[in-house]
Amino acid sequence: MTFAMQELPGEFTSFEFPAGVPAPFNMAAAILGNTKMLTLEEKIKMVPGLLPMLLEGQSFIDAQDELSVLEFMIKYGMPDRINEEIFIAMGKALDFIDPDLLSMTVVLTAMNRFINEADGSQTAFLDGNPTKRFCEPIKNFVESTGGEVVCSSPVTQIHLNDDNTVKSLQLKDGTQVEADYYVSAVPVDVFKRLVPTQWSTDPFFRQIDELEGIPVINIQMWFDRKLNSVDGLCFSRSSLLSVYADMSNCCAEYASETSMLELVFAPCCPEAGSPINWIAKPDSEIIDAALKELARLFPTEIGDDAPEHKKAKLTKSTVVRVPRSVYAAVPGRNKFRPSQQTPIDNFILAGDYASQKYLGSMEGAVLSGKLAAEVICDKEMNRDSKGLKDVHSSVLGKEFSSKDPVGIVGSGATVYGGGKQGNFENP
Ligand SMILES: Cc1cc2nc3c(=O)[nH]c(=O)nc-3n(C[C@H](O)[C@H](O)[C@H](O)COP(=O)(O)OP(=O)(O)OC[C@H]3O[C@@H](n4cnc5c(N)ncnc54)[C@H](O)[C@@H]3O)c2cc1C
Repeated sequence: MTFAMQELPGEFTSFEFPAGVPAPFNMAAAILGNTKMLTLEEKIKMVPGLLPMLLEGQSFIDAQDELSVLEFMIKYGMPDRINEEIFIAMGKALDFIDPDLLSMTVVLTAMNRFINEADGSQTAFLDGNPTKRFCEPIKNFVESTGGEVVCSSPVTQIHLNDDNTVKSLQLKDGTQVEADYYVSAVPVDVFKRLVPTQWSTDPFFRQIDELEGIPVINIQMWFDRKLNSVDGLCFSRSSLLSVYADMSNCCAEYASETSMLELVFAPCCPEAGSPINWIAKPDSEIIDAALKELARLFPTEIGDDAPEHKKAKLTKSTVVRVPRSVYAAVPGRNKFRPSQQTPIDNFILAGDYASQKYLGSMEGAVLSGKLAAEVICDKEMNRDSKGLKDVHSSVLGKEFSSKDPVGIVGSGATVYGGGKQGNFENP
């Protein structure tokens, strides 16, 4: 894990987890071995907050969901510098928000991986673009086993039988799909718009009203020369940027003698902790602001102070706004994440927001899919399943009036939880 040094522009420091050393000893070695970010005293002051996680495991982590990172730090007497040096960077990377808004469970979940898995701290890149390198092999596998993958014809409505089980899915092209089981893997904000009227008074389906995707901006910047960048993911530790990577180093398909930086711009709006609503700003302002931050990360190559003969010129840039990305992991959200099993016998939930231990992430989405598959297998084999997750009393205590589904309104990727490049109208 590589972090930019805040007071030393252009310098980086990393936590080196030694190979061949089992967890959690490799994590201890990584923390003790890095002397640039925290003093020994500060490291020792982290112990009272982190020790219960080691001793009690997941139950302690889950119980901290009601606290923000800052509240947790105050409770366990952690010095502010741990926030400035580590937790701000983690919050911006893990959920695109600042630690005063972020649930401590998110930070502890990531740390728990470091403690329990020797390679839990590793980050990796796909060797090419996701459509070709990730989606296409899955599509090919599905088709080779007799399945069909339909793109560009989203689900617009869920039709029900008299007993409220799913009868069919209505696709945008007019076709209806019937199946033994139906798995929803759409983002939570899309699913809310599809919940049928008959299900809308059921607390199980209404608990998701408490979950909402957080806005984030993703930027790509191409330069006319190779920057002095590392091969891997970096925590920028700047106020506007989160993590970034030079894809010309990290990704085989984009290998090049000139750099292409891929950056996460976060927090990008007031609800995520930014005083400025960047998502509504024009691309040019966002790129200018990012370049100013990059001048601190690449002082000899970017910005006014860079010597003329080394100065990198921006040749192209793209700004992708994602108005609803992963669910905002503000304190107290975990209790509203639904189980994959639902009260409807032939309807199962997947997606990163459904209940699983890996937060809103790609890994979480995969685990959620596996849990959804498990529910179907259990039903088919008449096995006992994990069952429905209890709906929290705060939801059970409410009376819900029935609501017709809003449906899919508009077109374009943001309607389906994706991002939009340029010409963005703030919804
Ligand atoms: C800028 C950014 C950076 C990120 N970086 C990381 C990272 O480094 N590591 C990490 O682990 N995670 C990262 N994430 C989070 C990660 O992308 C998500 O957690 C993950 O993609 C969630 O997967 P999912 O399958 O639940 O949902 P999605 O990936 O959102 O997939 C939902 C799918 O449903 C489709 N859909 C929507 N509506 C319909 C409909 N009506 N009918 C049919 N299909 C529909 C969508 O088109 C989409 O394909 C990042 C996210 C963003 C926005």
